[in-house]
Amino acid sequence: MDLGLSGKVAIVCAASKGLGFAAAEELGREGARVAVCARTESTLTAAASTIQSRTGAETLPVAADVTDESAVVRLVETVRRRWGRVDILVNNAGGPPSGPFEKHTADAWSQSVELNFLSAVRLCRHVVPVMREQRWGRIINIASVTVKQPVDGLILSNAVRAAVVGLAKSLATELGPHGILVNNVCPGYTRTQRLIDLATAQARDSGRTIEDIYAAMEKSIPLGRLGEPAELAALIAFLASERASYITGTTIQVDGGFVRAML
Ligand code: NAP
Repeated sequence: MDLGLSGKVAIVCAASKGLGFAAAEELGREGARVAVCARTESTLTAAASTIQSRTGAETLPVAADVTDESAVVRLVETVRRRWGRVDILVNNAGGPPSGPFEKHTADAWSQSVELNFLSAVRLCRHVVPVMREQRWGRIINIASVTVKQPVDGLILSNAVRAAVVGLAKSLATELGPHGILVNNVCPGYTRTQRLIDLATAQARDSGRTIEDIYAAMEKSIPLGRLGEPAELAALIAFLASERASYITGTTIQVDGGFVRAML
């Protein structure tokens, strides 16, 4: 299937590893030019080179913290200067800390709102005017299955990511007439550094082994295994493409069947 992504310009946030990296690689493989951001310049530059050598795509690493307004402005401006447009925005960031309600300070709540909600608002504020001018755009937010089914021990994600769904739904309505489609994707348990960190914290807090934690995760998934980042990336590339031209305002999980809700 030709996704029609050849020559499109994408910004993929938090893309030096994990889900963001996989999304950037997949978009590059489909012919898009890909700007990637993350905070750590050395790993980001290495990630961009890897994507370029694996896919042949033009890549542009721009070190930026998505919680930093001026860094985000610089990111969008750098991409516009290099390629003159922004067709695809993949919003993504690191995950919030795990733990029960009483563990989290007021600062932890504010930081999570910054990292997992306001970062998406910020990127959209700077990219939407560009997409409006083009009368074409795709915004895809990497959220989590927690927006459909809360996960025990992840109260910050359970609470804060719901706002991303509200944002996307409203933006889909407002921006549809301008040719801009907005969707959320929801990874389930997927093999990345984030999952290793979560499993390590859970093992430490519960006195169980990491293997036990992974086994419990797998038991909760009808497909009986963890996901691979490329499996989420495939959906992101499709939603970013010309082929997804009538899909907006949706929230789709890639979770091996983990979410038991009907919708
Ligand atoms: P990961 O493997 O730990 O990768 C995180 C990436 O985000 C890195 O490239 C990191 O690079 C970058 N990053 C972190 N904070 C950033 C910031 N403030 N600004 C810019 N870049 C930042 O994590 P992942 O598994 O890909 O997770 C991505 C998102 O999906 C997270 O929000 C996570 O909670 C969510 N999610 C993951 C899973 C899963 O099972 N993996 C499931 C559901 C939801 P630097 O550290 O250099 O900035």
